[in-house]
Formats: sequence, structure tokens, C-alpha cells
Amino acid sequence: LPPPPAGETPQRVLTIAGSDSGGGAGIQADLRTFALCGVHGCVAVTAVTVQNSVGVTGVHEIPPDTVAAQIHSVTSDIGVKAAKTGMLSSAPIIEAVVDACEALGIGASIPLVVDPVAASMHGDPLLRADALDAVRNRLIPRATVVTPNLDEVRLITGIDVTDNQSQQAAAEALLNMGATWALVKGGHMRSSLESRDLLTNGQENFEFTAKRVDTTHDHGGGDTLAAAITSALAHDYAMPDAVAFAKTWVTQCLTAAYPLGAGHGPVSPLW
Ligand code: PLP
Repeated sequence: LPPPPAGETPQRVLTIAGSDSGGGAGIQADLRTFALCGVHGCVAVTAVTVQNSVGVTGVHEIPPDTVAAQIHSVTSDIGVKAAKTGMLSSAPIIEAVVDACEALGIGASIPLVVDPVAASMHGDPLLRADALDAVRNRLIPRATVVTPNLDEVRLITGIDVTDNQSQQAAAEALLNMGATWALVKGGHMRSSLESRDLLTNGQENFEFTAKRVDTTHDHGGGDTLAAAITSALAHDYAMPDAVAFAKTWVTQCLTAAYPLGAGHGPVSPLW
């Protein structure tokens, strides 16, 4: 995506997400992606995680009214063309975020990409179990597009995606909850040699297939995909084109991923 000419204000986007102290996922991945995709990234921090390449050892949630205040502050002054949510951690934070989005037209005239983050790749919880109803009843109905991986889709819809038919059923369940578009990512279907993602709005289906990249350094992959979709929407891409761009982007980032610490390295920015 083209950067603006020097000195000119780029499109602005907002990530509502958690901090990863290891710099691999969360808002750190989002801001890296935004910068490389030619947009200015604003941030509403929802939680500070204590995290390195091996796992998450602590979570400090930001008070819900402070999360909402960040969203109002940047939207009223800087203005945002598109927004995304990542780790939201608790039901009160989800309620505060959705209330703010409703008041500001985020998820209506301003597209909202919802990455329903539930756990880290190590299985550390990033969403409280009692927050799932708020995800289903408040957050997903607000989503212009919701981008779950297979674990998240199972938690939210109860559907175990094992083939194309169950992937379609899961996408339809998300649309029935009120999302405008559903992108059910197949990247974690380890048995397959391909990563096949399904995008649908109930009328049109789009499939995005890429060869599986054989790496354990895929930390922050979901965040990077959602941030790239958000950036493309800010550049006025139609949803299928935004997802196509983001899929190619994240596949290239996976190919360039590097080891970091003793655990999983991050998908690499394309320097
Ligand atoms: N930490 C934070 C703050 C995140 O937002 C996320 C993912 O969205 C993760 C960790 C987990 O990333 P991964 O599943 O790639 O380890």
C-alpha cells in the first residue's frame, strides 16, 4: 500500500488491543503493520501483558472507562478511517469498547475489523471465560468483518471446523450473530498442506488459499492479518480485495519470520 507523500497526513486507523512486552503480537504487531502499510496508527490499550517468546505470565487490565476515553480522544481529534479490535480481555472492557464504537460510528460508517482474540499460541488466556457472551452478543454484531481462527470459532460458535462444509457453517453462524462479513481462517488446520480462508457476507463467498508456510515463528500472525485488512480498508479497498491483500501480506511475513528468544519468534515485518 502506498505511503503518502512526505509531510502529507496519511489515513488514520485505530487499534483497540493489548500490549505484548515481547514486541511480537498485539498493538506492537499492529503498529508495525500500519506503518508499513502507509497509515498512521492510533492506539486504545486494553491490557498490558507480561509476555516474552515463551508465554504470558501476567495481565494487567486497563479500566474500561480509560479504554473508552482513548477511543473518544483520538477519534474526535485525529479522526479514524478504519478500526480493529484485538485482545479485549473482559466483558466490561468489551461493553465499554462497543458503547464507544456505537457512539462514534465505528462498525457503521467507519469499518471495524474484529479479531476475537481468546488465547495466545501457548494457550495462555487473553479473554476471560465469562466474556464470551459479550463477544457473541455485543462485539460480533458490531463487526464489519470478524476474523477468528479455528480455536476462536469453536469457542464462539461451538462448531469444530474440520472441512469446507463446517467452515461454511461456522461462517454462517457468525453472520447470524450480526457480523457483516465473516472470515474463517483455516491456517491452524495443521493436517492440510494449504491454508484456506473463507470470506462470506451471506451472498458472496471468497476463498483465499496459500501454501502452508512451515515455521514455528508465527507469533502475532492473526494480529498482523487483521491490521493489514484494516489498513487496506483505510485505503478504500473493498472487503474481498482488503482480505486478498492481507493474506498475501501475512504469507510473506511468515516466510520472513525469524527466531527470537527461546520460544516462538514473530511474523516478520517486511523491512
Ligand atoms: N498477546 C497479545 C497482546 C495479543 O493480542 C495476541 C494475539 O492477538 C497474542 C498475545 C497472541 O498471539 P499469538 O497467538 O500469535 O501468540
